[in-house]
Amino acid sequence: MRLSELAELYERIEGTSKRLEIRHLLAEVIPTVPEAEIDLFLYLLQGQLRPEYEGIELGMADSLARKALALVSGGSGDSIKELAKGSGDLGDTARELLEHRPRSLDDAPPLELTETYQALWRMARATGEGSQEVKVRTFAELMRRASPVEAKHLVRFVLGKLRLGVKEMTLLDALAEAFGGPDFKEARSRIEEAFNVTSDLGEIGRRLRQGGLAALREVRVAVGKPVRPMLAEREPSLAAVLKRMPEGAAFEYKYDGLRIQAHVPAEGSPRLFSRRLEDIGAQFPELLAALPSSLASRPAIVEGECVPVDPETGDLRPFQEISRRRGRKHDLEKYAEEVPIRYLLFDLLLQGEESLLGLPYPERRRRLEELLRPSGQVGLATRREIGGLPEAESFFQEALADGCEGIMAKSMAPGSTYRAGARGFWWIKYKREYTHELADTIDVVVVGAFWGRGKRAGKFGAFLVAAYDPDTETFATLCKVGSGFDEESLEKLTADLRGRAVPDRPEEVTSHLVPDVWLEPSLVLEIRGAELSLSPVHRAAFGRLREGFGLALRFPRYTGRLREDKAPEQATTTGELVRLYQNQVRKAAAEGTGESSEGSPPT
Ligand code: AMP
Repeated sequence: MRLSELAELYERIEGTSKRLEIRHLLAEVIPTVPEAEIDLFLYLLQGQLRPEYEGIELGMADSLARKALALVSGGSGDSIKELAKGSGDLGDTARELLEHRPRSLDDAPPLELTETYQALWRMARATGEGSQEVKVRTFAELMRRASPVEAKHLVRFVLGKLRLGVKEMTLLDALAEAFGGPDFKEARSRIEEAFNVTSDLGEIGRRLRQGGLAALREVRVAVGKPVRPMLAEREPSLAAVLKRMPEGAAFEYKYDGLRIQAHVPAEGSPRLFSRRLEDIGAQFPELLAALPSSLASRPAIVEGECVPVDPETGDLRPFQEISRRRGRKHDLEKYAEEVPIRYLLFDLLLQGEESLLGLPYPERRRRLEELLRPSGQVGLATRREIGGLPEAESFFQEALADGCEGIMAKSMAPGSTYRAGARGFWWIKYKREYTHELADTIDVVVVGAFWGRGKRAGKFGAFLVAAYDPDTETFATLCKVGSGFDEESLEKLTADLRGRAVPDRPEEVTSHLVPDVWLEPSLVLEIRGAELSLSPVHRAAFGRLREGFGLALRFPRYTGRLREDKAPEQATTTGELVRLYQNQVRKAAAEGTGESSEGSPPT
C-alpha cells in the first residue's frame, strides 16, 4: 500500500469533525488495506507505532524535524522556524516547503506504507550517542521522497501532534462497520470485548481482516498484553449495595492505592501495568523481585492494589506516598526502604494457559487463594462473604478502621465473570459517607485555567474542569474549581499545564464558559463538592435531565490528589454523574428534606 492512500485519508478525516462521517470514511478504506499491513495502518492512524501500552515514543524534537526539513528544502533551520511561526504548525510549513522544492527530486519513488513505518520505527528505536543524527537523517530521507501532503502528516506524526489521531472508539466503530456484517451493534460489542482483552487494535484489525468476526474467538488473554480493567459502579448505601446482589455478595477492603495488573511469565521478569495500561514496573523493583516466588505456578496475570505501608507498624499509609515514585528513575531503592509497599491481590485473570475471565468471581478468588504464597510484599485483599446488613456495616467499619477508604462489594452470582473494560453492578464501591456532602469524590479533567490575582498573580488560580462523555468522546464542563489548592501545588500545576495550552477550545471539549487559557485535556484531578445541581452554564450530561440544563458541582474543592494513574478518558463519566444526581435526589426525598438540588437555584 502506498503512503499516499493513508495521507489522503488523513486529509479527508481532517476535513470533518463528525464521528459518524469519520467512521464511514475509515470503513470504506480499511477493507482495502492489505492483510500484512492492516496492523501498521491502524497504529499509524492513531498516531502511534505500536499499541499504546508499549509506550513507544518517537521522541523527535521540533528542532530535529526542522533540521531534516532544512536538509531537504535547502532552507536553514532558522528560516523554517520563522515560517512555522507564521502558520503555527510545522506540518503545514513542511507541506509548503515541499510544494516549492527543486523539481529534480520529483522522480524519487513514492513511499510505501511499510517502508515508511520501518523508517519511523528505526527513528523510535535510535537511542544514545548519535541517535539524533540517525533520526534527522532517516527523517530527511522520508521527507525527500514524500509528497507535500505526506510530509505534512509525517511531520505532525513524529512530533506527536497528529491532531486527528483517530480515537480508539471511532476505530472500533469503523472496524465493526467494515467487517461486522448487518448487525452493527452486535459486531461493535464483540469487537470491543475482544479489544478489552488484548488492548491491541492492530491485532484486532488483523484478525478481522483474516477471518471476520469469527476470528475474534482466537483473541486470548496473554502475558504482556494488558487486559482493560473491570470497573465498579456506586450505590449510596450499603442496603442498596446488597439489593443489587441478590445472589450473594462478598465484600473486600477498598484500598486507596494504585491498581496494578501484574503479568508474571513462566521465566523472566514480570511486567506491571497501571490502570491506564502504562508499564510501571520500573517504579516497583521490589515487586518485580518478589512476584515470581509469590505464585505457586506461572505464567499468571493477577490484579491488585499496591499500597504504601508504615515500615514500623505495617499500617496502611496515604496513597500520595507511592505516587512520589512516579516518573523517577533513580533512588527507587531509597523509596522502597522509606515507604515500603504491599501488593494486595483481588483477582486472577490468567493461570497457565487458561483464561479465567469467563469464570465467576468466587471461582477466580478460590483459585487466586490457592495460587498465592503470601509474603511480606504480596498478600490477599481482606474479604468476607456478607450475610446481611449488620454484617455489611461491621465489615465496612473494620475497613475504615484499618485505613481503607471503604469497601468493594463483589457479586457472587454465576454470571459474575471478569468483564474487561466494563463498568457494571457486579462490583460496587461504597466509600465513607458524609452527611451533608456528596459522599463520593469525582475525578475531573482539566480543560481550561484562569489566571490568579493578588498573591496568585502569574500562576493559575482556578481551573475549568470536565467529565468524560464516552458516547460522544467529549469532555463536558462540570465546574470551575479554585479551592483546596495550596500555593505550591498551583505553581506546579501552572508549570505542568502551560505546555498544554492551546489557542482555541479543543474540539473534544464542550463548554459555555471561556477560560483565560484553554488546555488540551490531559490531567485528571480528584475533587469533592457539596452536591450536584442542574445548571444552564455547565455542559456535563447536557439535556439529559432537563432540556437546556447540564450538571454542575456546587462548592467544589480539590482533594489534593492528582489522578496521574488515570487517562482523561478514565475520568468520571457524565453517565456516572447522572446516577449520582439521581441518588442524591432520591436520598433527599427519603430524608424528607425536600432539599434536592432540583429546587436549588442553578449555578
Ligand atoms: P475508583 O478509583 O474510586 O473508581 O475505585 C475503583 C478502584 O478501587 C479500582 O480501580 C482499584 O484500583 C481500587 N480497589 C481497591 N481495592 C479494591 C478491591 N478489593 N477490588 C477492586 N478494586 C479495588
